[in-house]
Amino acid sequence: MHPVKLIKVVPDNQLSALSWQQQLSQAITDPAQLLQTLNLKSEDFDHYTPATQQFSLKVPHAYINKMQVGNPRDPLLLQVMAQSQEMLQAEGYVKDPVGDLEANKSPGLLHKYNGRVLLITTGACAVHCRYCFRRHFPYQQQQAGREQWADALTYIQNDSSIKEVILSGGDPLVLSDNKLNHLISLLEAIPHLSRLRIHSRLPVVLPDRITSSLVDLLANSRFNVCMVIHANHSNEIALAEKSALKKLKQAGIHLLNQAVLLKGVNDSLKKQVNLSEALYDAGVLPYYLHLLDPVQGAAHFDVELTQALGLITQLQNNLPGFLVPKLVREIAGETSKTPANEL
Ligand SMILES: *Cc1c(COP(=O)(O)O)cnc(C)c1O
Ligand code: SF4
Repeated sequence: MHPVKLIKVVPDNQLSALSWQQQLSQAITDPAQLLQTLNLKSEDFDHYTPATQQFSLKVPHAYINKMQVGNPRDPLLLQVMAQSQEMLQAEGYVKDPVGDLEANKSPGLLHKYNGRVLLITTGACAVHCRYCFRRHFPYQQQQAGREQWADALTYIQNDSSIKEVILSGGDPLVLSDNKLNHLISLLEAIPHLSRLRIHSRLPVVLPDRITSSLVDLLANSRFNVCMVIHANHSNEIALAEKSALKKLKQAGIHLLNQAVLLKGVNDSLKKQVNLSEALYDAGVLPYYLHLLDPVQGAAHFDVELTQALGLITQLQNNLPGFLVPKLVREIAGETSKTPANEL
C-alpha cells in the first residue's frame, strides 16, 4: 500500500481562516472540478451529467480534504459523486420511500412516532449525499420558514404527548445561530417538551460549524440536548471533526451517530469496526445503521438484507455491545424504525 496522499484544495489551515458560512458558499458544485481536484479523469465516471441535473452535486472543501487523491473508489467520494447508474430504473425504488409526504402534519412537521416530532427547519444541506431519501423531496414547499414555525409550534403546543423535538432538514445546522436561538427559545417555552435532538451531518462535513457560540447556545438550553451526527466511514472523522465533537461533548451534549449501509463504502466488517472505533474515540456512540431507503437513483448502493444481517453478527463477535449499531429500516406507516431481524 502506498501512503495515502491527502488533497489540499483549500488546505485545512487556510480553511479555518474562513468562516463556516464562507466555506459553505465555496462548496464545490461542479463534478468536473471535483474530479480535477482529486486528479481523476472524467473517464473514471461515465456520463454523470443527467444525475446532477436530477440532484445537484455539492461538497465542501473540508470533506474533499479527507478523500484520497487519484482513487475513483474513495469511500467518501462515492457518497457525493454523481454517477450514471443513478438514472437506471430499479424495481421497488421510488421517489418517497419512507412516506414522508403522508406524515406531514403541518408545513415542515413530521409526526410519525409517539412522543417525538421531526421539524424540517430548512431544505438545505452542506453536502448532497447521493443515496439520500430526500433527493426527490419537495424541500421548498416543506421547510418551515420563520413564518411557518408558528403552525408547527401550535401543533406541538396542542399535543402534550410530544416530549421531544428533532431538528432536521435538510440540515438544521446550516441555519445561523440567530435563527437556531430563536427557534430553540420558542420550543423552550412549551412546557411539555424536555428533549431537543439535532440531526446533522455538519460536524462531519463542515466541522468549523461547531463554533463556540453554537456550543454555548446548546449548553445553555433548558433542554437535555442530543446531537445525532451522520458519518458512514472512519475516514470522515479526522482531527478537525474530533475537536469539534469534543467541544460538544464537553458542553454536555449527548453524541450519537447514524450511518447508512452503503455498498462500496462501508459494507465490510473491517470498515464497520473502524467506524465504530473512530466514533468512540471521538466521543460518539453508534446509534442506527440504516438499510438503504429504496429511493430512485440509489439502487447501486444496495446491500442485501442477508449480507447486512451477517455483518451485524460479525460486528457483535468483534466489538463490545455498545459499539454495535442497531440495523434498521424505515417503513412507511410503522410506529418506529423496524429492526432488520424482524424484516
Ligand atoms: C427516524 C425518525 C424519528 C426518530 O426516530 P428515533 O427512533 O427516535 O431515533 C422521528 N421522526 C421521524 C419522522 C423519523 O423518520
Ligand atoms: S446531509 Fe442528510 S439530508 Fe442532506 S443530503 Fe446528506 S443524507 Fe440527505
